[in-house]
Amino acid sequence: MPILEKVLIANRGEIALRVLRACKELDIPTVAVHSKADRELKHVLLADEAVCIGPAPSIDSYLNVPAIISAAEVTRATAIHPGYGFLAENADFADQVEKSGFIFIGPTRDPHRLVGRKVAAIQAMKEAGVPTVPGSDGPITGDDEQTLAIARRIGYPVIVKAAAGGGGRGMRVVHEEADLLSSIQVTQSEAAAAFGSAVVYLEKFLQRPRHVEIQVLADGQGNAIHLGDRDCSLQRRHQKVLEEAPAPGIPQDVRDAVAESCVKACIDLGYRGAGTFEFLYEDEGFYFIEMNTRVQVEHPVTEMITGIDIVKEQLRIASGLPLSFKQSEVTFRGHAFECRINAEDPKTFLPSPGKVTTFHAPGGLGVRVDSHLYDGYTVPPYYDSLIAKIICYGEDRSIALAKMRQALDELVVEGIRTNTPLHRELARDPEFQKGGVSIHYLEKRLQE
Ligand code: ADP
Repeated sequence: MPILEKVLIANRGEIALRVLRACKELDIPTVAVHSKADRELKHVLLADEAVCIGPAPSIDSYLNVPAIISAAEVTRATAIHPGYGFLAENADFADQVEKSGFIFIGPTRDPHRLVGRKVAAIQAMKEAGVPTVPGSDGPITGDDEQTLAIARRIGYPVIVKAAAGGGGRGMRVVHEEADLLSSIQVTQSEAAAAFGSAVVYLEKFLQRPRHVEIQVLADGQGNAIHLGDRDCSLQRRHQKVLEEAPAPGIPQDVRDAVAESCVKACIDLGYRGAGTFEFLYEDEGFYFIEMNTRVQVEHPVTEMITGIDIVKEQLRIASGLPLSFKQSEVTFRGHAFECRINAEDPKTFLPSPGKVTTFHAPGGLGVRVDSHLYDGYTVPPYYDSLIAKIICYGEDRSIALAKMRQALDELVVEGIRTNTPLHRELARDPEFQKGGVSIHYLEKRLQE
């Protein structure tokens, strides 16, 4: 008997294929659900069963909860893996899946809800001992004198953030006291219009932070472990472009302390599943920003340095099994990078869907390619432009980077445009080679 009777994969593209591969390895039968535009997706062709759940637009297909639940009923699936994006962090979806009698492969309801609510999540993390950004510790109330005093205590520059904001929207940086109250007012009215809530809070604005995150696994049975950190500072418009593990140049005691605080938070919150604690990192300090309750795009770099299959662990946890590793059994070895290859123009970043006439994946020791592409596949225009992840492992950072340069030079995608030229440049960029660039580095470099 497989650990789960049948898994429905409620996603598309490379992550759907990633989940399918883990299921196959564990002998779990699979159901692919897909839109009308996605009949030719690789995992749809490889799954045991496939169900079309609606027209091309995601709102009618991959976000169509009744259609997904019906597909699970019709195919007698017992569990649903949401992948990332789409419904992966939608607590109502998780609820509906469980209410309909299926296992949701992700966290149980309460922590899911909590981490979806920013201010409450930050407070819960603080209570669990996770380092947070110095701030107002809750919403700004009406009292001007009190507000000014809070900002003085935090120290300028500060950032005004909408509690209901998301995706990097609803934030405003304030450099001096004279601008504080008016900036709060503007952010409040913008937030009310955009997110339906005028609640804002204050945080210290970090000027040159890095994005460093901690991967955790918890079984909801009192066991939680961390799988170390990743640096995802190379971003464009808050979208990660290139990631690595471990994050370079962080003192071991600082690294260990933050990871241990995340493990403790998982236990305190009764968290279940794979998760990521995202931090800003500056001057050897970690500052929690948010928690992701799903598998992340960049999970492979962690798998490469730990040898642990995160998706298989998700399936095991969902089936009710305890974690298969203790913290003392997790060992970290070498270094890994991941380049996100997108179907987009390398200069304008405009999407470049269309038919892939030739796809040649790189190979060799330590090179992993997670991609749903094949010769003749047509990238549809409706979805995220991620078409491949090139992941390279080496005994140390410079070896891994040398492999990445080689792998990127070998990669051939013809028929559509991709951002491969940008990755080739980044892999040779002197500052990036040194390690530890800030979250602003890529945008600045692109401007030049
Ligand atoms: P969202 O939910 O909108 O993604 P986050 O709180 O995760 O909001 O912040 C999004 C991004 O904004 C962060 O990745 C970071 O680049 C920037 N940011 C957020 N808070 C701060 C801060 N206190 N100082 C500097 N930059 C910040």
